[in-house]
Amino acid sequence: MFDWLVVGAGFAGSVLAERLARGRGERVLVVDKRSHVGGNAYDRHDEAGVLIHQYGPHIFHTNSEAIFRYLSNFTDWRPYEHRVLASVRGRQVPIPINLDTINALYGLHLTPDELEAWFAARAEPVAEIRTSEDVVVSRVGRELYETFFRGYTRKQWGIDPADLDKSVTSRVPVRTDRDPRYFTDRFQAMPLHGYTRMFEAMLSHPNIHLMLKTSFERAVSEVKFKRLIFTGPIDEYFGHRFGRLPYRSLAFEHLTLDRERYQDVAVVNYPGDEPYTRITEYKHLTGQVHPKTSITREIPQADGDPYYPVPRAENQELYRRYERLAAAVRNVWFVGRLATYRYYNMDQVVGQALATYRRIQDTVPAKGAPRQAPAKSDALVPAAE
Ligand code: FAD
Ligand code: UDP
Repeated sequence: MFDWLVVGAGFAGSVLAERLARGRGERVLVVDKRSHVGGNAYDRHDEAGVLIHQYGPHIFHTNSEAIFRYLSNFTDWRPYEHRVLASVRGRQVPIPINLDTINALYGLHLTPDELEAWFAARAEPVAEIRTSEDVVVSRVGRELYETFFRGYTRKQWGIDPADLDKSVTSRVPVRTDRDPRYFTDRFQAMPLHGYTRMFEAMLSHPNIHLMLKTSFERAVSEVKFKRLIFTGPIDEYFGHRFGRLPYRSLAFEHLTLDRERYQDVAVVNYPGDEPYTRITEYKHLTGQVHPKTSITREIPQADGDPYYPVPRAENQELYRRYERLAAAVRNVWFVGRLATYRYYNMDQVVGQALATYRRIQDTVPAKGAPRQAPAKSDALVPAAE
């Protein structure tokens, strides 16, 4: 009998497994239907020996010292500040849009103050900023919106920015200085030996038992457990009874090239007619020295593994219905990007998992501590429809 079944060995599941096993001394079974740990942050050496990210580029950044310190228990770090170029009008310019982007694209020599006025002259007033189109058009005007955002967003999400919540393009700032960094967080670094090694360290504990290539369904039929952490899609857990939550998927085209370098920075974005949104060259991220280099093209698609919840009001409403069901199921905790249908970065998922652990500490007596018998109605898996 396990004290906990944890479904999913990504950040949400691994952090909770680690805390429950080390923090509370309880027996944890972690299952994942994939053949590896790490969830979407999984990295591996490809056939040429280049360290690549199987599910696209993962760059760690956070403003939370607590989250950075927590992960530092399981890895050393390689300092890395992310830089991205956008391929527009036949050249590569910095994104987020900054002073250099505009001066290069328009052959200007503006100062930061002049650029602010330049943006203001083009910005279209929007009474209430609601959509991902509003965010950009109200700040820099329609031409830059169309150059950098409309095509990329339509490809990435399969819908127009006007139909997407403002939170999506709000992730990318607009700057009037020359700061070329994609993120400005206090802590920006890559796990020194990769994400997978960090996950292995997290899950390496005598109280943690790991079963890969094992679905939730199979685990439920084969093992006994008292409580459940579920990090898969919440609508799947409830048999899609209110309908499917939309998730956006991607195809990853991994290539190894017989040259040392492919591009100037780790990621180049393609807002134009190409089928892919971005190309990543991993050696910039990892610092690996190798005579070859490996890149990944990301091609968005509707079907396939669920990678992105799609932030828009109607999806949020549907999620709320599942969330209400989830709140009524005892002894089950829903955690992570898929189970809480939130467009979360890695650090936010770690923060959410640590907060869940604190809630468990507050409400569930640890093994060995006196506790009440579970209520008869405690149902770990939903009744069949
Ligand atoms: P996941 O990593 O999705 O893990 C869930 C796991 O559960 C999976 O391994 C899955 O196989 C397993 N599972 C699901 N259902 C079942 C089931 N029924 N039975 C068994 N197992 C199941 N974040 C950043 O901070 N920086 C970045 O640069 C960044 N880049 C990203 C790029 C891409 C292309 C994507 C898709 C995401 C990116 N992220 C980035 C976000 C990051 O991947 C997530 O925040 C994080 O991985 C979420 O962790 P999780 O544990 O919630 O989910
Ligand atoms: N975006 C865009 N053009 C860019 C970069 C981003 O239109 O060059 C939009 C797009 O909708 C994207 C969102 O901003 O999905 C968030 O970008 P981010 O780089 O944070 O995406 P992620 O790394 O999560 O895929």
